[in-house]
Amino acid sequence: MKYIYYLSLGSNLGDREQYLANAIEGLRRHENIESVTPSKWLETAPWGNTNQGPFLNGACKVVTTLVPEAMLQVMQALEKAAGRERLVHWGPRTLDLDIVWAEKEDGRFIEVQSETLTIPHPYLWDRAFVLVPLSELYPNFIFQGQAIGDRIKELDEA
Ligand code: ATP
Ligand code: CA
Ligand code: CA
Repeated sequence: MKYIYYLSLGSNLGDREQYLANAIEGLRRHENIESVTPSKWLETAPWGNTNQGPFLNGACKVVTTLVPEAMLQVMQALEKAAGRERLVHWGPRTLDLDIVWAEKEDGRFIEVQSETLTIPHPYLWDRAFVLVPLSELYPNFIFQGQAIGDRIKELDEA
Protein backbone atom coordinates (compact mmCIF):
# COMPACT_ATOMS: atom_id res chain seq x y z
CA MET A 1 0.00 0.00 0.00
CA LYS A 2 1.32 3.40 -0.96
CA TYR A 3 0.50 6.73 0.56
CA ILE A 4 0.66 10.18 -0.97
CA TYR A 5 1.40 12.92 1.52
CA TYR A 6 1.28 16.64 0.91
CA LEU A 7 3.62 18.38 3.31
CA SER A 8 3.92 22.03 4.18
CA LEU A 9 7.47 23.27 4.82
CA GLY A 10 8.49 26.44 6.61
CA SER A 11 11.58 28.14 7.98
CA ASN A 12 12.21 31.60 9.41
CA LEU A 13 15.56 31.28 11.15
CA GLY A 14 19.10 31.13 9.75
CA ASP A 15 19.66 29.94 6.20
CA ARG A 16 16.03 29.30 5.42
CA GLU A 17 16.60 28.05 1.88
CA GLN A 18 19.25 25.58 3.06
CA TYR A 19 16.95 24.18 5.75
CA LEU A 20 14.19 23.59 3.21
CA ALA A 21 16.61 22.08 0.67
CA ASN A 22 18.07 19.77 3.35
CA ALA A 23 14.57 18.62 4.30
CA ILE A 24 13.82 17.68 0.68
CA GLU A 25 17.16 15.87 0.42
CA GLY A 26 16.54 14.05 3.70
CA LEU A 27 13.14 12.85 2.52
CA ARG A 28 14.63 11.71 -0.80
CA ARG A 29 17.32 9.69 0.95
CA HIS A 30 14.82 7.70 3.01
CA GLU A 31 14.69 4.12 1.77
CA ASN A 32 10.90 3.86 2.06
CA ILE A 33 10.22 7.10 0.22
CA GLU A 34 9.74 6.63 -3.49
CA SER A 35 9.47 10.19 -4.72
CA VAL A 36 9.51 13.76 -3.44
CA THR A 37 8.20 16.61 -5.58
CA PRO A 38 8.77 20.11 -4.16
CA SER A 39 6.90 23.28 -5.06
CA LYS A 40 8.62 26.64 -5.50
CA TRP A 41 9.46 28.42 -2.26
CA LEU A 42 7.75 31.66 -1.40
CA GLU A 43 8.43 34.28 1.22
CA THR A 44 5.48 34.96 3.52
CA ALA A 45 4.61 37.11 6.51
CA PRO A 46 4.37 35.20 9.81
CA TRP A 47 0.91 33.83 10.69
CA GLY A 48 -0.58 33.66 14.19
CA ASN A 49 2.40 35.16 16.00
CA THR A 50 3.40 38.12 13.83
CA ASN A 51 6.30 39.28 16.01
CA GLN A 52 9.02 37.35 14.14
CA GLY A 53 10.89 37.30 10.84
CA PRO A 54 9.37 36.35 7.47
CA PHE A 55 9.07 32.70 6.51
CA LEU A 56 10.21 30.82 3.50
CA ASN A 57 7.42 28.37 2.79
CA GLY A 58 6.71 25.62 0.33
CA ALA A 59 5.03 22.27 -0.11
CA CYS A 60 6.06 18.87 -1.33
CA LYS A 61 4.34 15.72 -2.51
CA VAL A 62 5.72 12.48 -1.08
CA VAL A 63 4.95 8.97 -2.37
CA THR A 64 5.87 6.31 0.18
CA THR A 65 4.93 3.07 1.92
CA LEU A 66 5.30 4.80 5.33
CA VAL A 67 2.09 4.90 7.39
CA PRO A 68 1.11 8.36 8.76
CA GLU A 69 2.72 7.95 12.22
CA ALA A 70 5.95 6.68 10.64
CA MET A 71 5.93 9.58 8.19
CA LEU A 72 5.57 12.02 11.10
CA GLN A 73 8.56 10.43 12.82
CA VAL A 74 10.70 10.89 9.71
CA MET A 75 9.64 14.55 9.56
CA GLN A 76 10.37 15.12 13.24
CA ALA A 77 13.84 13.58 12.86
CA LEU A 78 14.52 16.07 10.05
CA GLU A 79 13.29 18.95 12.23
CA LYS A 80 15.57 17.76 14.98
CA ALA A 81 18.52 17.52 12.57
CA ALA A 82 17.82 21.15 11.66
CA GLY A 83 18.23 22.07 15.32
CA ARG A 84 14.54 22.83 15.76
CA GLU A 85 13.68 24.05 19.23
CA ARG A 86 10.12 24.47 20.46
CA LEU A 87 10.20 27.60 22.62
CA VAL A 88 7.11 29.61 21.71
CA HIS A 89 3.85 28.39 20.21
CA TRP A 90 3.88 29.35 16.52
CA GLY A 91 7.27 30.98 17.21
CA PRO A 92 10.41 31.19 15.06
CA ARG A 93 11.81 27.89 13.78
CA THR A 94 14.60 26.59 11.57
CA LEU A 95 12.31 23.95 10.06
CA ASP A 96 8.67 23.03 10.35
CA LEU A 97 7.20 20.10 8.46
CA ASP A 98 3.46 19.41 8.62
CA ILE A 99 1.32 16.82 6.87
CA VAL A 100 -1.51 18.91 5.47
CA TRP A 101 -3.29 16.30 3.33
CA ALA A 102 -2.94 12.58 2.65
CA GLU A 103 -4.35 10.05 0.22
CA LYS A 104 -3.98 6.37 -0.53
CA GLU A 105 -2.74 5.51 -4.00
CA ASP A 106 -6.31 4.86 -5.15
CA GLY A 107 -7.02 8.57 -4.52
CA ARG A 108 -9.13 8.10 -1.39
CA PHE A 109 -8.25 10.64 1.25
CA ILE A 110 -7.00 9.71 4.68
CA GLU A 111 -8.31 11.02 7.98
CA VAL A 112 -6.26 10.67 11.15
CA GLN A 113 -7.30 11.88 14.58
CA SER A 114 -4.85 10.86 17.27
CA GLU A 115 -2.93 12.45 20.09
CA THR A 116 0.05 13.10 17.81
CA LEU A 117 -1.52 13.53 14.40
CA THR A 118 -4.47 15.30 12.83
CA ILE A 119 -4.97 14.87 9.08
CA PRO A 120 -6.20 16.89 7.25
CA HIS A 121 -4.22 19.57 9.10
CA PRO A 122 -6.69 21.69 11.13
CA TYR A 123 -5.56 24.97 9.52
CA LEU A 124 -5.11 23.64 5.99
CA TRP A 125 -7.90 25.75 4.55
CA ASP A 126 -7.03 28.94 6.46
CA ARG A 127 -3.41 29.43 5.43
CA ALA A 128 -2.53 30.95 2.08
CA PHE A 129 1.12 30.02 2.69
CA VAL A 130 0.04 26.38 2.65
CA LEU A 131 -2.52 26.59 -0.16
CA VAL A 132 -0.48 28.60 -2.68
CA PRO A 133 2.36 26.03 -2.91
CA LEU A 134 -0.12 23.15 -2.58
CA SER A 135 -2.04 24.44 -5.60
CA GLU A 136 1.13 24.17 -7.67
CA LEU A 137 1.41 20.44 -6.85
CA TYR A 138 -2.33 19.73 -6.78
CA PRO A 139 -4.10 22.31 -8.98
CA ASN A 140 -7.46 20.49 -9.00
CA PHE A 141 -7.57 19.99 -5.22
CA ILE A 142 -11.07 20.40 -3.79
CA PHE A 143 -11.85 20.59 -0.06
CA GLN A 144 -15.31 20.86 1.47
CA GLY A 145 -16.71 21.39 -2.01
CA GLN A 146 -14.49 24.36 -2.81
CA ALA A 147 -11.70 24.51 -5.41
CA ILE A 148 -8.28 25.46 -4.06
CA GLY A 149 -7.90 28.38 -6.48
CA ASP A 150 -11.19 29.88 -5.28
CA ARG A 151 -10.13 29.53 -1.66
CA ILE A 152 -6.80 31.25 -2.34
CA LYS A 153 -8.67 34.19 -3.92
CA GLU A 154 -11.03 34.33 -0.95
CA LEU A 155 -8.15 34.44 1.55
CA ASP A 156 -6.43 37.08 -0.55
CA GLU A 157 -9.50 39.31 -0.46
CA ALA A 158 -10.12 38.83 3.28
P1 ATP B 1 0.53 24.17 13.49
O1 ATP B 1 0.18 22.70 13.61
O2 ATP B 1 -0.59 25.10 13.84
O3 ATP B 1 1.11 24.49 12.14
P2 ATP B 1 3.16 24.02 14.62
O4 ATP B 1 3.52 23.39 13.31
O5 ATP B 1 3.94 25.19 15.07
O6 ATP B 1 1.62 24.45 14.61
P3 ATP B 1 4.46 22.03 16.17
O7 ATP B 1 5.00 22.54 17.45
O8 ATP B 1 5.41 21.92 15.00
O9 ATP B 1 3.19 22.91 15.75
O10 ATP B 1 3.84 20.59 16.34
C1 ATP B 1 3.19 20.20 17.50
C2 ATP B 1 2.66 18.76 17.31
O11 ATP B 1 1.65 18.71 16.32
C3 ATP B 1 3.65 17.75 16.82
O12 ATP B 1 4.41 17.24 17.86
C4 ATP B 1 2.75 16.67 16.17
O13 ATP B 1 2.61 15.54 17.00
C5 ATP B 1 1.41 17.35 16.07
N1 ATP B 1 0.68 17.21 14.80
C6 ATP B 1 -0.66 16.96 14.75
N2 ATP B 1 -1.06 16.88 13.47
C7 ATP B 1 0.03 17.09 12.70
C8 ATP B 1 0.22 17.12 11.29
N3 ATP B 1 -0.81 16.92 10.43
N4 ATP B 1 1.48 17.36 10.82
C9 ATP B 1 2.50 17.56 11.69
N5 ATP B 1 2.38 17.53 13.04
C10 ATP B 1 1.16 17.30 13.56
CA1 CA C 1 3.10 24.27 11.21
CA1 CA D 1 4.61 21.45 12.88
